[in-house]
Amino acid sequence: MKAVRLVEPGKRLELQEIAIPEVSANDVLVAVKAAGICHSDAHYRAGRSPVHPLPLTLGHEVAGVVEQVGTGVSSVKPGERVCLHYLTTCGECVYCHRGSEQFCQSGSMIGKYRDGGYAEYICIPARSVFSLPDAVPFEQGAILMCSSATSLHAINKSRLKPGESVAIFGVGGLGLSAVQLAQAYGAEVVLAVDINPDKLETAQHFGAVPVNAREVDPVAEIKRLTGGRGVDVALELIGLPLTMQQAVQSLAVLGRAAIAGLTDKTFEIAPYQEVINKEVELIGVADHLAQEIPQLLAWAGSGKLDLSEVISQTIPLEAELINDVLDQLESFGKPLRVVITP
Ligand SMILES: [Zn+2]
Ligand SMILES: [Zn+2]
Repeated sequence: MKAVRLVEPGKRLELQEIAIPEVSANDVLVAVKAAGICHSDAHYRAGRSPVHPLPLTLGHEVAGVVEQVGTGVSSVKPGERVCLHYLTTCGECVYCHRGSEQFCQSGSMIGKYRDGGYAEYICIPARSVFSLPDAVPFEQGAILMCSSATSLHAINKSRLKPGESVAIFGVGGLGLSAVQLAQAYGAEVVLAVDINPDKLETAQHFGAVPVNAREVDPVAEIKRLTGGRGVDVALELIGLPLTMQQAVQSLAVLGRAAIAGLTDKTFEIAPYQEVINKEVELIGVADHLAQEIPQLLAWAGSGKLDLSEVISQTIPLEAELINDVLDQLESFGKPLRVVITP
């Protein structure tokens, strides 16, 4: 089969002809119908985030059709439409038992530590395979499993309650899902903070109040729009020290800032004025949980979560086209999501 793979960090991905994986008892072989190209993939290609063993097929946002199942698999059948949880987990360690399987001691991630979805087929344990509702196209099913799932996890970690106010910093791939999911949770008001007018317009179309951080100080504007209180929940989905600081500063008394954007830089916060005095919380968000996926798929199936405007382009499984998209992601030039349809 064809697979587009990382052979050496810092080099361009290569198309390789490799064997279709063997299906063991608890595995499912899926014919890939859609694989999202994620900003993380640009980090992996550049060598900023480890990928092994090499060469390895990238792609952790995957939907397709079951081709074959192992002898021990009864949860899905050949021909079924599915999407894949990108983490593979043991189900038996202390973290899996506690329902925090993103910390599984023998866990792995497709497209990072085992072959992913930039290929014609992918083999994955049945525990990570979820039935995709007929109403959800493969392309949307694929990107649901990364950006939307992480947005949902961020909202769950923030303990958002109906009637609360939310500010979402960054309304790209994750943020547009977060705007819709926050409303599905019953948020009273959702403020979308970005510097890109197109993204803000799309967020507004989905019901958010836009805050253009290039034109106004977002913290002051959030305070103004919430009658001076600040927001109950702030989600940071960009990964910049400045927006992390703004997320904390925009909180109301007892507010929670959930941070999902990645950076290795530090940011400053005044402990007394901005944290202690208001009893605010700063919460880390890592990946998401298998138990969150059925809710996500139900909302996608019913239209409460609509990703049709998030996907900007589909491309075939060709190394150079994929490399070009990764180049554009490197320069933050790609507005929304590109999906490979092998
Ligand atoms: Zn992703
Ligand atoms: Zn485990």
